Amino acid sequence: MTNDCLFCAIAAGEIPSKKVYEDELCLAFYDIAPQAPVHFLVIPKAHIPSVAGVNSANSAVVAHIFEVIAHVSRELGLESYRVVSNIGDQAGQTVHHLHFHVLSGRDMTWPPG
Ligand code: 5GP
Ligand code: ZN
Repeated sequence: MTNDCLFCAIAAGEIPSKKVYEDELCLAFYDIAPQAPVHFLVIPKAHIPSVAGVNSANSAVVAHIFEVIAHVSRELGLESYRVVSNIGDQAGQTVHHLHFHVLSGRDMTWPPG
């Protein structure tokens, strides 16, 4: 597997995913264990371990990903949705490649669990 990283392997097409959107910088695909009626992930194709690894040299892709989230959500007709990124074990990060969850289609609670 590329870099021993699951999401690098998905970005490279080595592991199949149900794609929502793809361009040269990022990929959006449905989560394998959805936590809402609509649940997809948006990842940079380049490996960044988490939000904690974002810096002035790689942050442009994060702005791009948020444009993609807005675009894809509009295309899917989502009127309300939540964007989440978990950083580190205590926050529940299980895949150490930067990803933004986009969840929609049910009532959400705040604060999150
Ligand atoms: P995290 O727990 O790091 O915030 O989010 C990782 C997400 O990746 C989880 O929601 C999990 O269901 C999803 N996931 C893990 N393995 C796969 C996979 O092989 N394919 C897809 N589509 N999603 C995965
Ligand atoms: Zn990776």
